[in-house]
Amino acid sequence: DHRIARISSAIRVIPNFPKPGILFQDITTLLLDPKAFKDTIDLFVERYKDKEISVVAGIEARGFIFGPPIALAIGAKFVPMRKPKKLPGEVISEEYSLEYGTDKIEMHVGAVEPGERALIIDDLIATGGTLCAAIRLLERVGVKVVECACVIELPELEGRKRLGDKPLFVLVEAA
Ligand code: 5GP
Repeated sequence: DHRIARISSAIRVIPNFPKPGILFQDITTLLLDPKAFKDTIDLFVERYKDKEISVVAGIEARGFIFGPPIALAIGAKFVPMRKPKKLPGEVISEEYSLEYGTDKIEMHVGAVEPGERALIIDDLIATGGTLCAAIRLLERVGVKVVECACVIELPELEGRKRLGDKPLFVLVEAA
């Protein structure tokens, strides 16, 4: 697809952010290119519009940029999956491990119903830990996770393996 090359070149790579040795994939430059941003959303919408998805779950923070336009276009609700202590109502949470220590994501109780079909959106998959936690959280409340989708995959970290048989769709692979 000719749109992929444009999306790929609109993503800026910043060395040594947030720590020395890390090559950070910066999607804010993709947002500055309205054609590439639209192509990104269109590619996801084309894939998911006829899959009877009722929930688009976006992971804080950059899943909040890509998730809502996809949800609106396919007629699904948008559910934010947030960092701890951000959501004001009753939450359920799921812990996951980081390189050092653990983190958590949270979702409002009652945001989804058992039996709903969800798509999980984030900007990037690295180790896959965040997406795995999001899958577990949704499955705990009886939601079927149809697929996970990211703009960028870092294939060397093999996050895809960590997702097991859960399908992962990505637009761009980065080094
Ligand atoms: P994982 O849990 O797969 O190891 O890490 C994925 C999470 O970290 C995503 O929520 C993603 O936003 C963030 N992340 C890690 N590295 C990068 C990066 O290079 N660029 C961006 N935009 N996000 C990153």
